[in-house]
Amino acid sequence: MKKIVFTLIVLGCSLAIHGKKPGVIAHRGHWRVENSAQNSMNSLNNALAIKAYGSELDVYITTDGQVVLFHDSSINGKRIDDMSYAQTQEIRLSNGESLPLLSEVLKEAAKQNKTKLIIEIKPHDTEQKENEAVDAVLDLVHHAKMGKKVEYISFSRNVCERLIAKDSRAKVAYLGGELTPQQLYDLGYSGLDYHIGTMRAHENWFDEAEKLGLTVNVWTVDDEENMKWLIDKGADYITTNEPVILQRLLEDR
Ligand code: MG
Repeated sequence: MKKIVFTLIVLGCSLAIHGKKPGVIAHRGHWRVENSAQNSMNSLNNALAIKAYGSELDVYITTDGQVVLFHDSSINGKRIDDMSYAQTQEIRLSNGESLPLLSEVLKEAAKQNKTKLIIEIKPHDTEQKENEAVDAVLDLVHHAKMGKKVEYISFSRNVCERLIAKDSRAKVAYLGGELTPQQLYDLGYSGLDYHIGTMRAHENWFDEAEKLGLTVNVWTVDDEENMKWLIDKGADYITTNEPVILQRLLEDR
C-alpha cells in the first residue's frame, strides 16, 4: 500500500511538473489482437476503437503512383517501390488482408475525430521516388480534407524537408536520431520522433525540445519501465505496440 501511495505521489508530482500526459500512438495500428496484422485496415480500426491519439502507418509509392501501406522495403527479394499496384495486391498480410491503399485508410479515419494518422513515408530506392511519394501523399491528404488529422514522420530527411517545403502547416517529425532539437527547429521541423535508446542517451533533449516548441515522440516502447520514464520526462507522445497497456498505465496515474 505504501508503495502504491508513494508511486501515486511521485507520478502526481511529475504530471504536475509537466502538466501533461503523453498521447498514445499505436505503432502500425493496434495489431496485437486476434485476426489483426500490422498496417492493415483491421489494425487501423482497432486503433480507432480504443481512441488512441494516433495510429501510425508506413507507406510506399508503387511504380504506377499508388500509395500503399507496408512496412518492409521488400518482400521475397522484390522492392515494394519497384512493384505495380497490381503486384502489391498479390501480397497477403498475416490476417489475409491485402495491402490497404492510403486513400482507403484516410476515408476510414475521416469518419471520426479522436485519432490522428501518423503517416511514415518510408525511404525509397531513389530521391525521385521519394519526391513522388511525398507529392502523392500530400495530394491524397488534402483531397480527403484530412490536413489537420495527420502528422508525418520519416527516416529520410529528403522526405521530411520536402513535406516542410510543400506544406508549411504540415507537422513533420524526424525519426533518424542524429539531429539535435536546435538543428530540427532551424530546418522547420515540428518535432522529433526518436528511439528510446537515443532519448535515454540525450535526456537534455526533452527540455531543449520543449523550449523550442518541438514535440517529442519516442518509439517503440512496449515495456512499462520505459513508459513510466517517458511519462516522468514529459514526452508528448509514446509510440507503442501495446497501446492498451499504456492507456491503462496513464489512467491509473
Ligand atoms: Mg513506422
